[in-house]
Amino acid sequence: MNTNINYDVVIVGAGVQGAATALEAIKNNYRVLLLEQYAEPAKGTSSKSSKLIHGGLRYLESFEFGLVRECLHDQHRLLRDYSDLVSLQKFHIPIYKSTSRSRIIIRLGLTLYAFLGGLKKHNRFRKLKKSEWADLDGVKTDELLAVYQYYDAQTDDAALTRRLVEQFQQLGGDVQYNAKFSQAAMQEKLVTASYKQNDKEYTVTARMLVNAAGPWVNHVVDKCHPESQRIKVDLVQGTHIELEGSLEKGIYYLEAPQDQRAIFAMPWKGRVMFGTTEHVHEGPPEDCRPTDKEINYLLDVYNHYFTDGKVKTRDDVLEAWAGLRVLPESKNNPFKRSRETLLIPNQKEHARLISVYGGKLTSHHSMAKKLVKKIQNYID
Ligand SMILES: Cc1cc2nc3c(=O)[nH]c(=O)nc-3n(C[C@H](O)[C@H](O)[C@H](O)COP(=O)(O)OP(=O)(O)OC[C@H]3O[C@@H](n4cnc5c(N)ncnc54)[C@H](O)[C@@H]3O)c2cc1C
Repeated sequence: MNTNINYDVVIVGAGVQGAATALEAIKNNYRVLLLEQYAEPAKGTSSKSSKLIHGGLRYLESFEFGLVRECLHDQHRLLRDYSDLVSLQKFHIPIYKSTSRSRIIIRLGLTLYAFLGGLKKHNRFRKLKKSEWADLDGVKTDELLAVYQYYDAQTDDAALTRRLVEQFQQLGGDVQYNAKFSQAAMQEKLVTASYKQNDKEYTVTARMLVNAAGPWVNHVVDKCHPESQRIKVDLVQGTHIELEGSLEKGIYYLEAPQDQRAIFAMPWKGRVMFGTTEHVHEGPPEDCRPTDKEINYLLDVYNHYFTDGKVKTRDDVLEAWAGLRVLPESKNNPFKRSRETLLIPNQKEHARLISVYGGKLTSHHSMAKKLVKKIQNYID
């Protein structure tokens, strides 16, 4: 490819949001180019999530009913259409004397969750019998008051993203790897976008540029001229650790005793995946790494809830990795900030750039549909 090839849409970023948008756009008969700075898809946040395809039970506490309904709708679709990559899991919520959320609140939340999920069989929940507690993968039973069980789903986030890219390519979509977007000039009906690949600069023209660069979103906005609308964000790091062991009964939804945040213990490729944390990352996205403080915090939570013979220490951490959430800048605790996706055009009319801020792995399809609708409004 050299210069002046025309596309309808150029998308920056082959994470789950860029891949889903590319697929949705090509299904709508647009000519699409997907650019990825690394050698393969999902090298950013889309391989570093908790890998849950869930409605987000905890978002009910912040009254984000629309987000929960949308995610549950997308979960249903993913279970149907990607059944080799997305599977239902039993989730357990143990309630102790010290748990900040009462049994009534949890029951209410699970009831509402089941209603928002359309009362499908797998959206129902139950309270475990005391006789079942001993089977729960070594979860401590001292001061345990109740355990609720419900269903949500788990996936391999990177594999799901790769699948979307493969489907896009099967429909004739063009993907360029090691292709780093470098700048764009927006005119009334046209965008001229440049990227660097193997030390060469390429320039293409398109009718619309989609910025799905995840944590790099504002780096891309800053390279677009004339100056575009941007929103200020915090990059909120989330770390997971992997420990030896297995969880035979499914996933555990725990409350960190230190700060009452939600922490998940999940079976993952023959290990236990445990996370996550929330602290604001400063510096370039590619520099994000798990910190000692985060790893110690996660080990403390793990040891608080699990008794599997011995206390886990740093030596038991087989792997640790971190990803970045894109959340609107605020003084509020990151845990309490909205997880809605924001689609920001560069201007109100004749927009040539739409930037994707934030969002969920689970709701990538709904996001892509909304985004392609916006593209249709702007360019058709
Ligand atoms: C710790 C954590 C846990 C999470 N857990 C869950 C969960 O369990 N369930 C859920 O639904 N959601 C979860 N999420 C949210 C979910 O992971 C994200 O919404 C999603 O992965 C973001 O995808 P993305 O495509 O926007 O970003 P990314 O996956 O980061 O993709 C952006 C891509 O853009 C590329 N790029 C950037 N700049 C350029 C450039 N100049 N040129 C070319 N390419 C470029 C990057 O290389 C990258 O591949 C979690 C998020 C975090 C951080």
